[in-house]
Amino acid sequence: MTSPDLLCDMASDMASDMAGESAPDTPPLFNSREWLRYTRHIQLPQIGASGQARLKQSKVLVIGCGGLGSPLLLYLAAAGIGHLTVVDGDSVELTNLQRQIAYTEHDLGQPKALTAQQHLQALNSSIEVQAIDQALTVDTGEALVKGHDLIIDCTDNFATRYLINDLCVQWQKPWIFASVYQFSGQCALFVSGGACFRCLFPEPPRDVPDCNAGGVLGVLPGMVGTLQANEAIKYLVGLPTPLSDNLLLVEALDLEFRRIQLQSNPDCMACGKPKQPEQLSYAYEASCGAEISTDTDEPLLVSPEQFNQDRDDGATLILDVRSDEERRAFHIGGDHLAPGKLSKLAELDEATTYFPGEVKIICYCQSGQRSLEAAQQLCNAGLKAYSLAGGLAAWLHHQQTL
Ligand SMILES: [Zn+2]
Repeated sequence: MTSPDLLCDMASDMASDMAGESAPDTPPLFNSREWLRYTRHIQLPQIGASGQARLKQSKVLVIGCGGLGSPLLLYLAAAGIGHLTVVDGDSVELTNLQRQIAYTEHDLGQPKALTAQQHLQALNSSIEVQAIDQALTVDTGEALVKGHDLIIDCTDNFATRYLINDLCVQWQKPWIFASVYQFSGQCALFVSGGACFRCLFPEPPRDVPDCNAGGVLGVLPGMVGTLQANEAIKYLVGLPTPLSDNLLLVEALDLEFRRIQLQSNPDCMACGKPKQPEQLSYAYEASCGAEISTDTDEPLLVSPEQFNQDRDDGATLILDVRSDEERRAFHIGGDHLAPGKLSKLAELDEATTYFPGEVKIICYCQSGQRSLEAAQQLCNAGLKAYSLAGGLAAWLHHQQTL
């Protein structure tokens, strides 16, 4: 409980902070409902009335409202950040609900930015929330970055992070980076004059798929997104931010947290001298790594539509090449051949004995990688084999759209 004396002191601090001693009649920054709402912040000596006022006067740009953006945005809205801009061009999908806690089953198919805006305004109607229902681009990025005090990256790809970085270096804006993959997370606060994202990653790392391809523990973006919110609030209030010029590594499996001091790279093409702006844009359009191939120009791949047609014609053998555990948990029919067995058949040159010679075989697995390898093995053995592009994940997605 807050004592009347403490509230009185806060009000007095507030009046002198916000209005100045010489202008006692200036309308207060907070109405009585807001003042009550933020009591637990105002009670903290490190935040107080002046810190809460700074939060109210802040404009924060959040790029991406998925697994990281969900908890981050909820906490920033609850904390009373005066203006939030939410940028995301995606719609809510069923696979998002395992971790993207800003959405419910009612939101499936709805644009994320607009849906997040509605939920955030329902949480706190005294703040402004602007929704931009498209991904950040070179064309829109500059004005957005210039118009905000702090930029927060909640995306899942390196191309957008390079764009955010270069705009923030150019306009001397602070930004908070985070990424999650499987059980590992990373987080850093880049400030003008310190190391930048390109000092840390001069080139996009190879073979780092995003969490759509590699999986992610649902609670991990919750942990890392909450850490981003923690650093954002401290930064905006003016408290020390240990993540400045530091990279925090979070391991959810063994619950280890490590902080690594970052060093500026004098040859960095974004923040080094001389700058090399003509080279900066090279990675904006780059892919974020080893995405699942659904390119049906690849001769061995069949689309989910083609898969359905072939499966129903009765002349095609559907072959599940996942493990026994995966088969037991879920399958969509067809025969099952565990990976070890398939290799053995290939080794013994017995594939053509095992399978009828002329039959068309379509292999499937979870994401389409193992089934492509299996199809290649069967083709090498002289069979007519294909792979379901994108695997069960793409097929299930396709079935939802029917
Ligand atoms: Zn740099």
